[in-house]
Amino acid sequence: MRADVAIIGCGPAGLQAGIHSSRRKASTVLIGKIQNSSLYGTHIENFFGSTGRTDGTEMLKRGLDQALSFGCRHIDRDVIGASMDGDIFRITVETGEEMECRSVVIATGIYRKKLNIPGEKEFLGKGVSYCAECDCNFYKGLKVAVIGNESLAATSAELMTKYASEVYWVSNDILADRNLVDRASGAGVKNIAGTPKEIRGNAVVESLLLQGGLTLGVDGVFIELGGRSSSELAMDLGVLPEADDSIKVNKNCETSVAGVYACGDITGEPWQLAKAVGEGAVAGHHAAKWAKEKRNDC
Ligand SMILES: Cc1cc2nc3c(=O)[nH]c(=O)nc-3n(C[C@H](O)[C@H](O)[C@H](O)COP(=O)(O)OP(=O)(O)OC[C@H]3O[C@@H](n4cnc5c(N)ncnc54)[C@H](O)[C@@H]3O)c2cc1C
Repeated sequence: MRADVAIIGCGPAGLQAGIHSSRRKASTVLIGKIQNSSLYGTHIENFFGSTGRTDGTEMLKRGLDQALSFGCRHIDRDVIGASMDGDIFRITVETGEEMECRSVVIATGIYRKKLNIPGEKEFLGKGVSYCAECDCNFYKGLKVAVIGNESLAATSAELMTKYASEVYWVSNDILADRNLVDRASGAGVKNIAGTPKEIRGNAVVESLLLQGGLTLGVDGVFIELGGRSSSELAMDLGVLPEADDSIKVNKNCETSVAGVYACGDITGEPWQLAKAVGEGAVAGHHAAKWAKEKRNDC
């Protein structure tokens, strides 16, 4: 299969890139599974124009339909390899099928680090969250625990003091920037030294049990351990990820390799829908422009 532009990843960044690329009349293929997007199964209330709790799964389904209506093709598979041969990129999907394209957009998102303790999976969306910035408003006047050792946990805990009645920051070894730790303490965050063992509740979260037996009565548990990206694909294409695993891009969302673009969570924080679609639009626009220029050179 051949295309001008191949987009790896079918979350909001990839779908928006697909919409912009296909509307510029570049032949565009979207590769990936919408059900693996961070947005799938969530509810959004801080995205422009969306009022109340907008269903993330519905947004993804509508976004894919929209991209297809503008002429995108969709391969509902994972990519397992990529390579570069002069001006041409080759992408291999899990079925073994190969495709050639003139530009690539990497929109593979991040994988949020898990605690892997009982209750974490069961109470996801029912008191367990991986994003204080996203879900803070749902915990007004309630008690929450923020878990993590790094600066992300410190800033999340401080943010939560503006919403929750009580904020516990649970960590076993604080590695966060000292200024951020002081700011969190100054805002009223209570530091608890310990390691989480189990999240408990009935229909929703009711408590967090720590190793050693201490139980914190909380309504919410924010797991703020950071993220990991699938940056191996970028390396296959000659793009070196940053120390934190993100991919650096310029204002056109172009990476260090000409013809390779990246957008969304994989380019770094904030891990938010608005940034993902904004960058998706820019990446799709420039990837299509690049591919069409190359097509005319041939
Ligand atoms: C619980 C939760 C709640 C959230 N709430 C909010 C909120 O309220 N507001 C907000 O703005 N943001 C929120 N977010 C964040 C938001 O969902 C992300 O910022 C956004 O989805 C990022 O879009 P993306 O396209 O970069 O990545 P993703 O949506 O994660 O999509 C990545 C895509 O890449 C695909 N992919 C990965 N590897 C491969 C591969 N090898 N081959 C093919 N495809 C691949 C995946 O299958 C997926 O389709 C929330 C996230 C979570 C987890």
